[in-house]
Amino acid sequence: MGENMMLKDKVAIVTGGARGIGREIVLMLAREGCDIAFNFQKSQETAKVLENEARSLGVRCVATCVDIKNNTAVKEWIAKTKEEFGRLDILVNNAGIVRDKALMMMTEEDWKDVTSTNLDGMFYASKACIVTFLKQRSGDIINISSVSGLTGLPRQVNYSASKGGMNAFTKALAKEVSPYGIKVNAVAPGLIKTDITDGMEEKRKEEILKTIPLGRMGTPEDVANAVRFLLSPAAAYVTGQIITVDGGLTMR
Ligand code: NDP
Repeated sequence: MGENMMLKDKVAIVTGGARGIGREIVLMLAREGCDIAFNFQKSQETAKVLENEARSLGVRCVATCVDIKNNTAVKEWIAKTKEEFGRLDILVNNAGIVRDKALMMMTEEDWKDVTSTNLDGMFYASKACIVTFLKQRSGDIINISSVSGLTGLPRQVNYSASKGGMNAFTKALAKEVSPYGIKVNAVAPGLIKTDITDGMEEKRKEEILKTIPLGRMGTPEDVANAVRFLLSPAAAYVTGQIITVDGGLTMR
C-alpha cells in the first residue's frame, strides 16, 4: 500500500454503496487506503463485484444487505462492523431514493418511503456511530443531501423535505459535536448521472441541463471528489457546511 494514502488504516461506513454515487465514494475511499463497510438493499450482485474491486485495491471491504429504514438492523450492522474492523472513523450517509409526484397525487407511502430512507436512515446510522466518535474524540460524518433540499423542486416535496432535513441535521449536529473533534458536513449534488437520473424524463433533464452553467450533468466522481476534500487535511477547519456540487445550477 502506498505511503501517502490519505485514509490508510481508517474505517468508513458508506450507506447505499452498491451503485451510483455511493459506489464511487467506496472506490475513492479504497484508493485512499480506507477499509470500508457498505450496505445495499437489493443490489446483491453489484455489491459483490464492488466488494472485490475495492479489495483488489488492497483494503478490507464488506458489503451487507441492510435496509437503512430498519433501525435495529442498522445498529447491529454498525456494531458488527466496529467489532470486526476494530474501529470506526467515517460515516457517509448516502442511501437515498426519489418518488417524484405532484403533491396532489402523492400517497402517504410515497412520503414515508422517501423520508424514512433519506432522513430516518441518516439518523439511525449517525446515532449508531456517534458514541464511538464521541469516545475517541474524532470522526467525520458526510451527508449526501441534494440541491433539492436547498431550493425546493416541484414534484419533490417528499424528497426536498428529506434533503432539507439532512442539511439542517448537518448544521445542528456539527454544532453539537464540534467540541468533541467530530466534523459533520454535507455534499449537495445537482443533476448527477446515475440510475436515479436515468429514470427521469428526458425532456425534464434537457430543461434542467439548459440552466446548468457548466453545461453538463455531473458524474459520481464529481461528488466523490468533494467527499474526498471534506475528509482531507485540507478541510480540517471545515464543518457544518453544505458543499454544493452542481455545475453552478443553484448559484446566487
Ligand atoms: P442510486 O439509485 O444510483 O443508488 C442509491 C443507493 O442507495 C443504492 O445503492 C441503493 O441500494 C441504496 N438504497 C436505497 N434505499 C435503500 C435502503 N432502504 N436500504 C439500503 N440501501 C438503500 O442513487 P444515486 O447514486 O444517484 O444517489 C445517491 C445519493 O445521492 C442519494 O441520497 C440521492 O438522493 C443523492 N443525490 C443524487 C443526485 C443525482 O442526480 N443522482 C442528485 C442529488 C442527490 P440498492 O442498490 O440495493 O437498491
